Amino acid sequence: MAECVFCKIVAGEVPCEKVYEDDAVVAFLDIHPVNKGHVLVVPKEHTQNLFTASHPILEHLIGVAQKIASALSTYADGVNIGQNNNRAAGQVVEHLHFHVIPRFANDGLRHWPGKTYREGEAQNIARQIKKLLGIP
Ligand code: 5GP
Ligand code: ZN
Repeated sequence: MAECVFCKIVAGEVPCEKVYEDDAVVAFLDIHPVNKGHVLVVPKEHTQNLFTASHPILEHLIGVAQKIASALSTYADGVNIGQNNNRAAGQVVEHLHFHVIPRFANDGLRHWPGKTYREGEAQNIARQIKKLLGIP
């Protein structure tokens, strides 16, 4: 896609700090890391997000993300893998990518706040999701 920054990185038109590349995937440092060493794992072929990606590409991407996460885990205390879909979920670059983020004890980052269900609400929501999945 002409205006996609990750397609430009794949094409070598925008520079990046590459850490891994194969026929279908490239991985490089995020320009604004959550922690230093934050890597983005990106398919070379443009696809918008999780909903548009093929299973073979997703399998390949998660395999590369695992390889990078394992490498980071040799010096980090933990690793987060994140993946945003659509604007409301924080997706800014509309080219599928996984974030692989090294974590350190006391790095000051906070996880999402947990909400609380009202009486009966969790059962209703679980029922709705199962219906959407076609599970009786
Ligand atoms: P999203 O919010 O879409 O899941 O994440 C997009 C990520 O891409 C952001 O963390 C942002 O810092 C990173 N990013 C955006 N533009 C560039 C760029 O030109 N080069 C690199 N290396 N990272 C980028
Ligand atoms: Zn793209």
